[in-house]
Amino acid sequence: MPGTITFFTGPMACGKTLELVRHLQIHSEQHIPTVCIRPATDTRTENVESRAGLRFDGLTVQDEDLETIRGILDRYDVIGVDEAHFFPPGIVPLLADAVLRGKTILVAGLDADFRGDVFPTSLALLSLPETSVQRTPAVCCVCRQHNATRTQRLKDGEPARRDDPTVLVEGSDCVITYEPRCLDHHVVF
Ligand SMILES: [Zn+2]
Repeated sequence: MPGTITFFTGPMACGKTLELVRHLQIHSEQHIPTVCIRPATDTRTENVESRAGLRFDGLTVQDEDLETIRGILDRYDVIGVDEAHFFPPGIVPLLADAVLRGKTILVAGLDADFRGDVFPTSLALLSLPETSVQRTPAVCCVCRQHNATRTQRLKDGEPARRDDPTVLVEGSDCVITYEPRCLDHHVVF
């Protein structure tokens, strides 16, 4: 029987990791071999952890190490991928092949970067015909409406510039922060 692939996506703080962890736990509680990989680029934590505190042990993988990812896909039945936008698009054919072999693939990641441009890996995931997309908005940090589809980057409290690097993890030399915002309140210079 073929497997399934689900992509929990949206801006930051929309609950996508919460959904990923909830689904991983449902499978691991039934003693189904379950793993969750996370990219080494995300240095914030070793675990897959939602803002609400729900967590699942993470297996950190070098972002470009597709051979290791291929081996992990062979060994487990349920494979989670957290922060998927940090992995290269080459991960997507591996996940699609795993679905053909009956695996359950659960993916969480941002759909778009701080500019509002879709990450290449997220675009490839959204484009797979088998992907069930669970896309949810977050609450906008400015107007408090539950309609935030964008991730705002602030650099020392000011909106970031369009030509800034795409990946800047919180805690670099200047103060980089991210917050969810609606289309009306998302600003890029
Ligand atoms: Zn707003």
